[in-house]
Amino acid sequence: MKEPAYFATLPPFWKKTSVRVTVCILVVAVVLAGLVIAFLVGSPMPCVFHQLTGLHCPGCGGGRCLKALLHLDILRAIHANPGVIVAFFLGAYYGLRLLCNYLFRREIFPDLHFPDWLWYVALIGFGVFYILRNIPVYPFSLLAPPPVV
Ligand SMILES: [Zn+2]
Repeated sequence: MKEPAYFATLPPFWKKTSVRVTVCILVVAVVLAGLVIAFLVGSPMPCVFHQLTGLHCPGCGGGRCLKALLHLDILRAIHANPGVIVAFFLGAYYGLRLLCNYLFRREIFPDLHFPDWLWYVALIGFGVFYILRNIPVYPFSLLAPPPVV
């Protein structure tokens, strides 16, 4: 396993083992605090875009989705915002990858290397989804996030 390419560009202070361990502990603590908040209350803030326009933005239902995901209520999570599920697992993987690469100075987790066309298909798919979820007619209304409970 080789050292991550960016590691050589870091200033000496950020390469110290004690600094790397401290940074990783702080990052893990912040992420865990965020997950505890999401587990208990979902999103702590209402969506400003939804309050101003009445439309569901691409992130609407994200807090409810994460809360449902953390409660292992997969169907409710999909109903709230399926894009957040994909983003959650991709973000968790890349976050863990970045953290481990920095902490251990090695490429422990490989880059996933998605083909470019997949990003375009996903972008178009989510764009269509978010347009459809704002049409207030059945069956499209099923795509809107569930009300806050
Ligand atoms: Zn929103």
